[in-house]
Amino acid sequence: MKRIVVLGAGESGAGAAVLAKKEGFDVFVSDMSKIKDNYKSLLDNHDIKWEEGLHTEELILNADEVIKSPGIPDTAPMIKKIKEKNISIISEIEFAGRYTDAKMICITGSNGKTTTTSLIYHILKGAGYNVGLAGNIGRSLALQVAEEKFEYYVIELSSFQLDNMYDFRADIAVLMNITPDHLDRYDFKMQNYVDSKMRITRNQTEKDAFVYWNDDPIVTKELEKYNLKARLCPFSEFKENGVIGYVSDSTFHIDGPVPFNMEQEELALRGKHNLYNSLAAGITANLAGVSSEYIRKGLSDFAGVEHRLEKAGRVRGVDFVNDSKATNVNACWYALDSMTQPTVLILGGKDKGNDYSEIFDLVKEKCIGLVFLGVDNTKLHAAFDNFGLPIVDVKSMKDCVDECYKMAKPGACVLLSPCCASFDLFKNMEDRGEQFKECVKRL
Ligand code: ADP
Repeated sequence: MKRIVVLGAGESGAGAAVLAKKEGFDVFVSDMSKIKDNYKSLLDNHDIKWEEGLHTEELILNADEVIKSPGIPDTAPMIKKIKEKNISIISEIEFAGRYTDAKMICITGSNGKTTTTSLIYHILKGAGYNVGLAGNIGRSLALQVAEEKFEYYVIELSSFQLDNMYDFRADIAVLMNITPDHLDRYDFKMQNYVDSKMRITRNQTEKDAFVYWNDDPIVTKELEKYNLKARLCPFSEFKENGVIGYVSDSTFHIDGPVPFNMEQEELALRGKHNLYNSLAAGITANLAGVSSEYIRKGLSDFAGVEHRLEKAGRVRGVDFVNDSKATNVNACWYALDSMTQPTVLILGGKDKGNDYSEIFDLVKEKCIGLVFLGVDNTKLHAAFDNFGLPIVDVKSMKDCVDECYKMAKPGACVLLSPCCASFDLFKNMEDRGEQFKECVKRL
């Protein structure tokens, strides 16, 4: 019996272990940290052996193949040892892909993955497709392959998942954009990160499609190097050379396979970035054969994703918007760009080497005040103090929302789009967004 070792017992690892067991492998799961109780029960229920808090070499280096959680970097000592032994290391998605004939719709990019993935899923589900949601959101693909019989999967893929994918093939691959991120995992070389993102097109044939943003300079330059066989489906804000999705005269167009249009006004999601996300989702649904009626419905009644430009309430004429997921400057740029009201902007948290100059023009144009929510706001002061805007420093969400409310006049908007990670004051970005919404409710 062949032996599969799964490293990391989170959502993807636990799911991979269950599928491997079902497929008749001798399975062992090892996690350096503590395994959550729900995953322990899942493994126990399937009679799968596991360990936590350590990696026992003898139980790992005898594997025929290793499934690695995307969170474990290649520099981890155990990964180095596995590589020295020439044992193949794959991702959960690669493994699960071997045991299903379902159509795979895969989405990657530096920003916009979760929104676009959720929107595509929403359209397909609304159209009555037998579809599962997997990858970085939803349940693990492997567990669904083990337990369900979906005909389609919509899968959000991070660069870390793509790194250990080899034979996997996406029927429809979507690449939203590439901007610098996670460079610490890529030897601080941008090209390594770019190569990782481009892996989404790997193994695609003439029968498949590649949907991408035509105005991304990195993606279009990369495409010159690749001789892709897949049908190319670029989109852009404007009708330009060869794009099949665009806006013209306030109408949202998709030229094919089935010509489609709707009023831009009817799109549920606002902002330029969300126009790109809607274009990518509309083209993908069109390629998957969804009728125009259901594409229109899905694009117009999508409720959005929590913590992404989410309406958090209106208090005496002041709107509050939760964009806690904006943990980099580029995401905040798009949030500010979509603001149509005078804005009080909340910035701050754990800075990941940010260059704030990207948002200088928009801050000058749209902001009436800034609130810095972080343990160390020195860099924010250096960047914004000479703008002549009122600025307040706070260290708790309650003080933050109170100060914003004082600054904002009726008709204004308070936007939490902090450009930074949340770990200095919050558990994670969800905790930051939830506290924001809670404090707004209590105003
Ligand atoms: P991801 O899953 O790639 O992190 P999300 O959909 O969760 O992407 O959005 C993350 C942040 O990026 C949000 O704050 C959102 O406002 C912004 N964003 C969403 N879509 C795009 C896009 N197409 N381009 C740039 N920024 C985007």
